[in-house]
Amino acid sequence: MICNECGKEHTSDDIELVFLHPDLVAALPTEIRAAEVQESSDLCILNAERFFIRATLPLPVLQRDEPYSVGVWVELRQPDFERIYELWDDPDQSSEPPFAVSLANAIPTLGDTNGLHAQLRLTGPTTRPQVVLMPSDHALAVEQTFGISIHRAHEYSALASG
Ligand SMILES: [Zn+2]
Repeated sequence: MICNECGKEHTSDDIELVFLHPDLVAALPTEIRAAEVQESSDLCILNAERFFIRATLPLPVLQRDEPYSVGVWVELRQPDFERIYELWDDPDQSSEPPFAVSLANAIPTLGDTNGLHAQLRLTGPTTRPQVVLMPSDHALAVEQTFGISIHRAHEYSALASG
């Protein structure tokens, strides 16, 4: 399909944009990070006092059924982190009420997205939790509410490979 915004062809196998760490942790000097951070590909604890979980932030794509999902980290309160850890393998985890979180990555091109308030919803033991931003006039919240074009999805993917 030829894009009606730029005239190029965008393929659907583009790599989706993924953040491998919370920005705060990625910015730490190596030595401090080794001493103060416990992390896996899904969970991250800084200094035993700040708690992060990896999630996906789905953006509906107007021309297709599948959303474009940005891989992001969210920060949450310790009791919520512990509750999610407890439910990690629970097949019924999606019936848990959503958790209040804040975004822990700055997605380029959208101004600062760090600290945006959101809800985190558990989706099941084999899929990452999903971030739903609180309604606001922030560009990212608007995109999640109203959807993005294929062209915009391609712009996100270009950030991932660039
Ligand atoms: Zn385009």
